[in-house]
Amino acid sequence: MFNLVKGTHDIILNEADKYTYVEQTLIQFAEFYNFKEFRTPIIESSDLFQRSVGDSSDIVRKEMYTFLDKGDRSITLRPEITAGIIRSIVNNKLLALGDYPVKAYYVGPCFRYERPQQGRYRQFNQFGIEIAGVTSPYRDVEAISFGYFALKLLGFENLKLKINSLGDDESRKNYREALNKYFASYVDQMCDDCKERYKLNVLRILDCKIKEDQEIIKNAPKISDYLTDKSKDYFQKVLNSLDELGIEYEIDDGLVRGLDYYSDVVFEFHYTSSKGLSYGALGAGGHYNKLIGEIGGPKDCEGCGLAMGIERLVSVMEDDGLFSNIDDGIDCYIMPLSQEFQPNALNILSLLRLNGFKSEVSLEGKSLKAMFKKALKLNAKFALIIGEDEIKTNSIICKNLSNQEQESILIEDLVRYLDSQIDAEEEHHHECCCHDHNESDKDCCCHAHDDEGKHCCHNQNEDHECCREKKGN
Ligand code: ATP
Ligand code: MG
Repeated sequence: MFNLVKGTHDIILNEADKYTYVEQTLIQFAEFYNFKEFRTPIIESSDLFQRSVGDSSDIVRKEMYTFLDKGDRSITLRPEITAGIIRSIVNNKLLALGDYPVKAYYVGPCFRYERPQQGRYRQFNQFGIEIAGVTSPYRDVEAISFGYFALKLLGFENLKLKINSLGDDESRKNYREALNKYFASYVDQMCDDCKERYKLNVLRILDCKIKEDQEIIKNAPKISDYLTDKSKDYFQKVLNSLDELGIEYEIDDGLVRGLDYYSDVVFEFHYTSSKGLSYGALGAGGHYNKLIGEIGGPKDCEGCGLAMGIERLVSVMEDDGLFSNIDDGIDCYIMPLSQEFQPNALNILSLLRLNGFKSEVSLEGKSLKAMFKKALKLNAKFALIIGEDEIKTNSIICKNLSNQEQESILIEDLVRYLDSQIDAEEEHHHECCCHDHNESDKDCCCHAHDDEGKHCCHNQNEDHECCREKKGN
């Protein structure tokens, strides 16, 4: 027996279904926003992260998995994915012709040597988007609105969006001076990390999560008093646009983020589960005006993006019962009454699978009773029984396990028959085509409706009706 490496976890069976569901929902939604998938390496040169995430960040100072490879190159397991995406955009010259913006989405594992605790792992998964080539504050709004509506789509109703502006270079320069002055008389009482942050980048102190330090931080100067007119105007445009879109937010002038590349608008999504548990930020992001240039792209090219932690999303969704719509059952379970019918069973199995029916077969020589028990365990819609008579007549017995009705069906009619049965059942239960209704079939639980009850997940039926309106909810 080997133990898991500290801070890692297996994602298996039903748990893996949940990860797939969350990732697929986000991917599909990103496609609606015209983001394209980018898959970049998990290992990158260490200096990429030193340059981008920044030497003064906790991530680079203490959390990276860095090693020398056999060729003496310093390699790092990516602690975040933005740097790799931007590197890839630059290396592939996607911005060279000024054809802005390049819009990317990604999903995959990240590695940080952190103290493992609730919602915090050493290997975890992120989904994120980047917009490289931002020339308008409304691109920032696009990134924020993607995150906001994607989380709503997953079922997060009481979402809290915290937003702040870190300003442009000039704003931050003035702000840093003010912070340096303020913290000079407190830094000796603060944690060792803060002492180091004071030397490296005083802004980082605002991100300290230690309670005693937060008391001191509370009274520190606020960035809002140091924003240049240009940064103020940019921030205001973003806020106005969020208002227009009906996206609720809370300005949090203590929000600075833990990565050095952010400037101007930064934001985080928070959520407290119905059990009162908070797992930290579900997702976070912001604008970056220097990162692309620092990695070798066009100097004046700006960008923005956001990343979500899949582990945190899944944990909160589990707590709040937001996975009720995952169908982990199968369509058909094939039950040969004798081992000699197994080859016939296999032919039918292949026919079903190639026609898109999720199917399984019993090849363990179990009794009929045991096979029915297994069909129930697999949450099968149909039990398909093959006996002597069925072989002779080239047919199969189809038992609908939801109403217990059974019929003998010719193999040549089987696909059509199952299609019509499943269609009839769906029509009976579901009027909305999003297939996301809860068990009692009363409400649609796709959570993709906006405040006025209009459908915003693009899953309308042919008449473009939302099922909530249709059902008068
Ligand atoms: P935190 O403040 O919680 O440490 P962060 O500022 O380090 O988060 P980012 O680097 O912006 O987070 O990463 C984006 C998202 O990735 C976070 O909002 C969170 O959901 C998730 N995340 C970050 N670190 C971890 C981790 N160690 N384990 C699981 N998820 C994580
Ligand atoms: Mg962190």
